[in-house]
Amino acid sequence: MEVRKYFEPETETMDRSDVEKLQMERLQWQLKRCYEESPFYQERFKKAGIKPEDVRSLEEVVHIPPVTKQELREEQLAHPPFGRYTLAACKDWGELHPSTGTTGVPVNTIWSHRDVKAIASWTARTMWNFGVRPGDIVQNAFSYGLWIAGMSTHYASQQLRCFVVPIGAAMTERQIDYLLNPGSTVLLCTPSYALHIAERLAKRGVSPNDIPLRRGCFGGEGGAEVPATREKIEKGLGIDAFDYYGLTEIGPTISSECEEKAGLHWVEDHILIEVINPDTKERCQPREVGVLVMTHLTKEALPMIRYWTNDLASLTTEKCACGRTHARSIGGILGRADDMVIYKGAKFYPIQVEKVVRSFTELSDEFRIELTTDDRRGTDICTIVVEQLEERGDVELLASHLKKGLKEELLVTPEVNIKPLGSLERTTFKAKRIVDNRKR
Ligand SMILES: [Zn+2]
Repeated sequence: MEVRKYFEPETETMDRSDVEKLQMERLQWQLKRCYEESPFYQERFKKAGIKPEDVRSLEEVVHIPPVTKQELREEQLAHPPFGRYTLAACKDWGELHPSTGTTGVPVNTIWSHRDVKAIASWTARTMWNFGVRPGDIVQNAFSYGLWIAGMSTHYASQQLRCFVVPIGAAMTERQIDYLLNPGSTVLLCTPSYALHIAERLAKRGVSPNDIPLRRGCFGGEGGAEVPATREKIEKGLGIDAFDYYGLTEIGPTISSECEEKAGLHWVEDHILIEVINPDTKERCQPREVGVLVMTHLTKEALPMIRYWTNDLASLTTEKCACGRTHARSIGGILGRADDMVIYKGAKFYPIQVEKVVRSFTELSDEFRIELTTDDRRGTDICTIVVEQLEERGDVELLASHLKKGLKEELLVTPEVNIKPLGSLERTTFKAKRIVDNRKR
C-alpha cells in the first residue's frame, strides 16, 4: 500500500529560510553566467547600472529590468535563431518549443538535455501533488508536439511508472472509448476540453459512475479554480478536479494544486516567483494581485531573468495544510493583464464573466465577450454571448437575472445575447473568450 505523501519530501517541506537560501545560491549562479556569457543580459544589466554581485538578497532582483515577450521576439529576429541569451552549446540542445502566440512571430525556447530531465522530474512532483501514483492510467489529452505540456506530462508519467494513453487534444469520441476501456484513472487537458468531453459523455448516455476515472488536472487556460467550473467538471466526469499551470518561456507544468485544493504550488527550487504591481513595478504584498514575474534558477539552455508573464495572480508563503512549504497562488491565475476589458470605466477579466455564466444551470459552459462599436454614438458596446441549454422557459427573465449577476461581479452592466445550444464553437485547446470587432 502506497503511504508516501510527497514525491520529494526534503525539497517540498523544507523550512522557508532553507527554500530562500537555496534560491539565493541558485540565483547568484544564474545571474553570474547570464552576465558573463550572454551579451543580451550583459547589455541590459549595464544599462540598468547593476552587476550580479549587487543582488545580495532575493528582494533585490527587483532592480533588474523585467524581460517582455516582445523583447525576446525582437532579440530572436535580430540574432537568429534563438537570440543572444542561448547559453547552452548546440550539442546540448534537447528540444525546441515555440510559444503558441496568436499574434506575431512565435518566440522559440530550447530545453537542453539536462533541462528535459529537470522538467520531467518537477512535473512528476506536480503530478504527485494532485494524487497521481504508480499504476495510474493517464489519459494525456494535453496537446502533444510543439506545445509544452503534452511532452512534460508524458515524460513524468513514465517516471511515475504510469500507463500512458498519449491521445493528445483530439478525437473526443475516442477519448470516451479510452475512459471506458482500458478505463483511464487520470485525465489531463484544458478545462474547456474537459467540459466538452463531459458533454459528449452525457450525450453518449454514459454515467460518470460507469468509468474508473478518479481525478483530472486541467491547464493551458484558467478555469479549474473557478468554483462553478470546477464543480461542473467534477460532476460531469465524476472526479476530483485540480488546476495546472505553465508557460512556454519558463516551462511546462511548473505548478499544480495539491489535494487540499488550496491554490497552485510552485516549484520554487527551480523558479523564483515574484508578483509585481504593473503600475509601480514594485513587489506586491502577500495575497495582493499583480503580474507574475519569473526567474529561472536552474534552467540551462535559454534562461529567463525576470520574465514578465502578463499573467495575474497573488502569492502566499504560508505553509499549506498539506505540509508543503513552497509558495502558492490561491485561486490560481486570475487572468491576463492584456485580457482586461475596460467598459464604461469599469475593468474586468474573462474569468469573472466565466464565474457568473457557469453559476447558471440554464446555460452551457461556453461564452464570448463581444466588443463592438455603437455607430450612432461611437461608443463601445460589450455583449456577453451565452447558450441556453433547453429552449424553454422565459428567456427575458433569464436575461435579466444574468445581467444582474454580471453587474454584481463586474460592477458594470453589459448587454447579453442568449443563443441556442451549439451556437458557439467548441475548442480542444485554449478557448478564445474575447472577440473584438470594434472600429478603430
Ligand atoms: Zn498544499
